[in-house]
Amino acid sequence: MDEFPLRTMEGLCLGTSLAVSGFFFYVYRKKRKTLDKLKDAPQVALNGKLANLLNVIPCKCMQYVVIEGSVQPVGEPLRSQFQEGSVGVVQKLMLREHKLVWNSLARTWTDSERVLHQRVNAVPFSLVGADQATVRVLCPLEASGLEMEVIHEKFHQAVFGFTDIIGQYLSGEKPKGHLETEEMLKVGATLTGVGELILDTDRVLKLRPPTDGSEYFLSTTDFETLCLEQGGQVEVWRVLASVFALAGAAILIWVGRRYYRSLRLRWDREQQRREFESRGAGETTAGPGATQGSAGVQETPLENACVICLTRARNCVLLDCGHVCCCYSCYQALPQPTCPICRQAIKRVVPLFQA
Ligand SMILES: [Zn+2]
Ligand SMILES: [Zn+2]
Repeated sequence: MDEFPLRTMEGLCLGTSLAVSGFFFYVYRKKRKTLDKLKDAPQVALNGKLANLLNVIPCKCMQYVVIEGSVQPVGEPLRSQFQEGSVGVVQKLMLREHKLVWNSLARTWTDSERVLHQRVNAVPFSLVGADQATVRVLCPLEASGLEMEVIHEKFHQAVFGFTDIIGQYLSGEKPKGHLETEEMLKVGATLTGVGELILDTDRVLKLRPPTDGSEYFLSTTDFETLCLEQGGQVEVWRVLASVFALAGAAILIWVGRRYYRSLRLRWDREQQRREFESRGAGETTAGPGATQGSAGVQETPLENACVICLTRARNCVLLDCGHVCCCYSCYQALPQPTCPICRQAIKRVVPLFQA
């Protein structure tokens, strides 16, 4: 356990932060690429010359362009269900349930929202520019960034009696009501499209999702605002990825520091052992009466015996307390580096020489 520097909890945190950071970084790179492509996309003017311009290109297509025009339906437009006289080409009806749910952890009621019903309708439409030039917009529902105008919003308050209230406290759910909304891309609205522009065989200009996998955009804002919005998203992902990467690095530094400390402790002990042995060895070889000395140890085991093993002679001085109480093997086997007599921390140990 001591050998392995990473504890389970730290490993779990490290793994999670690295995985999350990696995922966020992946999203960031993807968004960054999309933004770069978006910024590089040429802006073409929608006018009578555009069809001729595409006609001279061999493939009759432009890979990724920005085009702006006002929305016009090809056939009959969609009519609003709630607002008299509003017509559009894309309509989104939504019914959301709002309720309060008892949160037993925070001991409070928290808001909760759930989509009960959602319907999206769309009719074929074109963008109209100068000289009545038109571009058919294909697959508008596949595009990103289409924020439509909310033309109807109504909240239906929930009504309940006394028994309902008791039931709500028992179940931990209080209905607030239903929110009914209608969003619409209105006829005549200015729309910015970013995608692949083609001149079809029927000589109709069409804007469609890029075949090379680039992101298709339709936005009711202008191109600069669209770029700014996308740039903001890129920044958010970058910050998220950095925060989690930093958390991972912090855990690594923490584990590394602990590992370094335990290593240094082991080095110090090793160093002490070497120092002790070299001094001890010097003594035994230097002394002419070495055999006599060892015989003396065997003769007087009880006078000079180590307080721990009671067999070997006491041969080390524990500093700073200065106690001479144990043999070196027993000192090494101590569970903590504290003196067995006085419990003071052992900073150093030196061999004992008796002359
Ligand atoms: Zn001993
Ligand atoms: Zn002591």
